Amino acid sequence: MIQNYPLYINGEFRETVKKQDVINPSTGEVLAQVSVADAKDIESTISAARQAFDKGEWPRISLAKRKEFILKISQGILDDAAELAKLESLNAGKPIKETTFMDIPSSAKTFEHFAHNLEKYLESETLEISNEASSAESRLLREPRGVVVLIVPWNYPLLIASWKMAQALAAGNTVILKPSSLTPLTVLELAKIIHKAGLPKGVVNIINASGDAVGEAICSDKRVDMISFTGSNEVGRKIIQYSTKSVKKLIMELGGKSASIILKDVDLEVAVNSSLCSIFLNQGQMCTAMSRILIEESIYEKFVADSVAKAKRIKLGPALDYETQMGSLISESQRKKVISFVEKAKAEGAKVLCGGKIPDDAKLKQGFFFEPTVLVEVSQDSQIFQEEIFGPVVCLAKFAKVEEAVNLANSSEYGLACSVWSGNFKTAQEIAAKINAGTAWINTYGMFYNEVPYGGFKQSGFGKELGREGFLEYTRLKNIIQDKSPDAKPLVSYWYGF
Ligand code: NAD
Repeated sequence: MIQNYPLYINGEFRETVKKQDVINPSTGEVLAQVSVADAKDIESTISAARQAFDKGEWPRISLAKRKEFILKISQGILDDAAELAKLESLNAGKPIKETTFMDIPSSAKTFEHFAHNLEKYLESETLEISNEASSAESRLLREPRGVVVLIVPWNYPLLIASWKMAQALAAGNTVILKPSSLTPLTVLELAKIIHKAGLPKGVVNIINASGDAVGEAICSDKRVDMISFTGSNEVGRKIIQYSTKSVKKLIMELGGKSASIILKDVDLEVAVNSSLCSIFLNQGQMCTAMSRILIEESIYEKFVADSVAKAKRIKLGPALDYETQMGSLISESQRKKVISFVEKAKAEGAKVLCGGKIPDDAKLKQGFFFEPTVLVEVSQDSQIFQEEIFGPVVCLAKFAKVEEAVNLANSSEYGLACSVWSGNFKTAQEIAAKINAGTAWINTYGMFYNEVPYGGFKQSGFGKELGREGFLEYTRLKNIIQDKSPDAKPLVSYWYGF
């Protein structure tokens, strides 16, 4: 029987009359039905979160108690890890190995990290200031921002929701989480975990609806203090526009067109293997996908030959099969978008060395699969070299001088991440410093840590997630200044002579 998922509003599970099918992208079949929030549900969600922040205990409970609640969420995810991994794979088409070893445990780890560190991150700071006229003490306090709306994409449904929710809750905010309507299932399971953990009502609210239907109502509402958004630039710009009806804090984690720079002194085998992983993991549907790999001339031919040989061996299959190395794309429309990128590149003269098509395997015909695709001889001004594809397609290009590679990497309007590969650490560091991106990996790819911040430059957005800096985005800074002058005279006595 197909499972039914209600919304989670003000501590209650709410089933709505309007329902939406959720599709399994590996098979195209209906996986579950989910309630869809309407204007009334949105109104009650915002007022529940507002009430819970203004009058409820969450922002006011001791930090030790807050930590205890958040640790219960982390443990709840671990307790249900196998089921959550299965559900995430079924809903997002991700290979079960990825969800079992990355998405789900990492989600639990993020809650655990912010639970254990919230006291340290929220510590106030005291500054002593003195000049010829006066001296004072300034206390800098970190407070929660209030009601925080979290809007997340479909590529890492539970993980990105957990990043945002763990930080927002640890800082003392109340939240409204809106998953992508393509992948709402694991966060609706998270609602059950949160309910069981006993968080006060209204602190966490999880709704489902299409972004276009409810985005403006949520993001323009004055009762919302902050919006933390991860998704496409197109939607990011809409949210910025909605938000201008009042003043609120925004975090924008947007698209990317990241480049790897491979120098001739690398361990070629490691660089090839990691580069394949940096584009084909999660079917290439990663904001930090290294969709442009720039290779030093003298190793180019070998790098290309090895990459193509290995890309051809990547095993496509249904998400729940443990042998599967690459699953299906999220939807037919995403696959059409990827195909149109490849077709246009071909028409412009790019050569397809492998993939570039829907697999012939009859067992995969009902899903939204697309073969791992390697392109060469791609024009550097072309759409495929400049725009985000969000699919398993990589452009390989050669360079003669390091400056050329740096310029190419920086030629994109995005600035999310880059990866530099060299046997010489100093050279790699110098190159990383020249790349206009928020994250630079050296001799590795895709290392995310709860301890360090992550976020893009240029059109990849603004604000950080994770680490102390990411966490502090979810707080506001209050400055309490106290006069400490030895013979203190109130300022008015100087000014008016009273
Ligand atoms: P998307 O922008 O289509 O959707 C993201 C979220 O916004 C979804 O929950 C969606 O329902 C919602 N939404 C859609 N229209 C809205 C509206 N008008 N108002 C409010 N919300 C609305 O993105 P996607 O297709 O789900 O994800 C892919 C994109 O996300 C890619 O561009 C990728 O680079 C980006 N991404 C960025 C990061 C990062 O950290 N920078 C991480 C993951 C994904």
